[in-house]
Amino acid sequence: MGKVVGSKVIVIVDCCGSVFAVSDIVRHERRARDWGYRCRKSSCPFDRLLRPSILVGDEYSPMLISSMKTFPCRCGNSLFFHSVTCVDCGFESGMCPACNRVVPMVSAEDGSTKCGNPDCGVSVVKCENYHSQQICNRLVLVENQPDETFCDLCRLTTVIPDLQIEGNQQKWQRLERAKRRVLYTVKQVGLPIEESPGAPVLSFEFKSDGDKPVPTGHDNGCITINIREADSVERERTRVDFGEPHRTLVGHFRHELGHYFWDRLVKENRESEFREIFGDERSPTYEDAMDAYYQQGPKPNWKSEYISAYATMHPWEDFAETFSEYLDMVSVLDTANHFQLTNCDLHDFEEMFESYRVVGVTVNEFNRDMGLLDLVPHVFVDPVITKLRFIHSLRVGAIEQAHSFSGA
Ligand SMILES: [Zn+2]
Ligand SMILES: [Zn+2]
Ligand SMILES: [Zn+2]
Ligand SMILES: [Zn+2]
Repeated sequence: MGKVVGSKVIVIVDCCGSVFAVSDIVRHERRARDWGYRCRKSSCPFDRLLRPSILVGDEYSPMLISSMKTFPCRCGNSLFFHSVTCVDCGFESGMCPACNRVVPMVSAEDGSTKCGNPDCGVSVVKCENYHSQQICNRLVLVENQPDETFCDLCRLTTVIPDLQIEGNQQKWQRLERAKRRVLYTVKQVGLPIEESPGAPVLSFEFKSDGDKPVPTGHDNGCITINIREADSVERERTRVDFGEPHRTLVGHFRHELGHYFWDRLVKENRESEFREIFGDERSPTYEDAMDAYYQQGPKPNWKSEYISAYATMHPWEDFAETFSEYLDMVSVLDTANHFQLTNCDLHDFEEMFESYRVVGVTVNEFNRDMGLLDLVPHVFVDPVITKLRFIHSLRVGAIEQAHSFSGA
């Protein structure tokens, strides 16, 4: 099924028995704003958008490589990632776990609710946090009832804020939104978060300061976020105090996931390569490095080697900061591809990086027009590009490994 170009992972689609490399399809067949490809074969009996697959070796595994940021409603209007109703036709909507799209929820004759994507149509119910709390918009398959009342992503949150305290509901909603957006992209680009033997189990705790302050951080798969970060005034004050170019909830999730993926993809796997690029995480110890950072501040001239001042603290923080930047890049390019601002292969690091530079300069100027912060505030120096390239190779390795486990 298809062929390998060098060792490169290429994307193919398989429609009516015809398989195409994506480079053919993108140039000639990609059109609709709805991300996908149309089959080029003139005798094709189908007229539908196709899901790409990832080809590794001489086989391919069924996996999406690009997410969608807008989705078509049955009325033709666009639904967005967090939509709960179509503003045009009023249909309730939600993210379908089967087709992985935001879809209108359609009532069937038997009284059940179905996914409104005509190619899908599974029976669904709202996630409990959608139904009763309005903090989620994901759907749950009826066939998984009653075992699963919460969606796959809500189940990852093990501690939620105290909802008796005014304002905490809104903070929780903002946290879950940011979490959903980041995890959606993470899954779509092939980074593994599902449980696997030997891998840390991913979970989230959203906590507020009590007798002791709650640090935002990661520990063996558990990501803790202080809910103060969901207060935009507090967060901006902290950003200015620390001299950061950005401080966002999605950024916190991306950074902490960097620590998670270090444990999952680097530890006991590619440690020596990591140490060559980021330094030895064993010396000084994390605790000594943290003390030194808070006493002496970041290394001088950090911009010649690091993505941020905080990255200078310890190789683990350098990795997490750079990983966060990598996910920023993938998300921005995925959106740019979706809206056809770019036509970038998200498996080719050099192409991605070049496109990101162009999009960054362009959107920075838009933002400056509007008095907003720069979208891409960094100047990328060679050591940072090397680190980003290493992270990209971890992602490609994870995709290849998932493929070999699937036995395809
Ligand atoms: Zn509609
Ligand atoms: Zn569906
Ligand atoms: Zn949910
Ligand atoms: Zn960190």
